[in-house]
Amino acid sequence: MQKRGAILVLSGPSGAGKSTIINAASEEIGDYYFSISTTTRNPRVGEKNGVDYFFVTKEDFEEDIKAGNFLEYAEVHGNYYGTSLKPVREALVEGKLVIFDIDVQGHRLVRAKMNDITTSAFITPPTLIELEKRLRARCTDDESVIINRIENAKSEIRAVGEYDFTIINDNIEDATRKFIIVAKAARLKQSREDEDKFITEWLA
Ligand code: ADP
Ligand code: 5GP
Repeated sequence: MQKRGAILVLSGPSGAGKSTIINAASEEIGDYYFSISTTTRNPRVGEKNGVDYFFVTKEDFEEDIKAGNFLEYAEVHGNYYGTSLKPVREALVEGKLVIFDIDVQGHRLVRAKMNDITTSAFITPPTLIELEKRLRARCTDDESVIINRIENAKSEIRAVGEYDFTIINDNIEDATRKFIIVAKAARLKQSREDEDKFITEWLA
């Protein structure tokens, strides 16, 4: 794959504020492509197909796995979630910053495949109690879904050390400011290919 762009992986518990932060920062981080994942979970109220996710059946998702259409995929909270390879490849060729909102399993897979152009940040509310409050205040999930997400968050937080940066989303303005810095740094990360070219030209 020709790699000219860069990847920024964001992970963190569902309800951490990832979508809120990306939206708040969108004007300030330059030309980026937000990778729209494919999922088998049901849309939440207000979510749109092709905007928030591509919502598909389990059968369709499994067809895509067989066809090798995913850069990575994982089972999270009992549903499949995956990143389609094609739009990511196109955005990278165009030199864009590609932003993923994926879980810790997805981060490991992206690192394994594209470590040299990947930067990552783990976004989390300051405490588990605060996370629970936000999930309830969001009013998008029923009780069993919230409990499931909290249980998942307890294990996801243990992966925090695998990320380049941790952004604690206590105050939204502070968290957004930190995110903008991370996004700008991610853009500066060069692929090995580019580095080799740079060294050859520098020495010439
Ligand atoms: P994620 O995309 O990580 O699942 P969201 O961006 O949907 O999380 O945020 C979850 C909920 O928490 C939303 O209702 C959002 O408005 C709220 N929220 C986000 N950041 C903060 C913050 N710093 N303080 C209080 N509430 C917040
Ligand atoms: P939600 O259901 O709240 O939208 O997302 C649940 C979890 O799935 C979050 O941790 C989110 O980061 C993760 N997720 C969303 N899309 C993908 C994806 O394409 N791949 C992986 N591995 N995880 C994803």
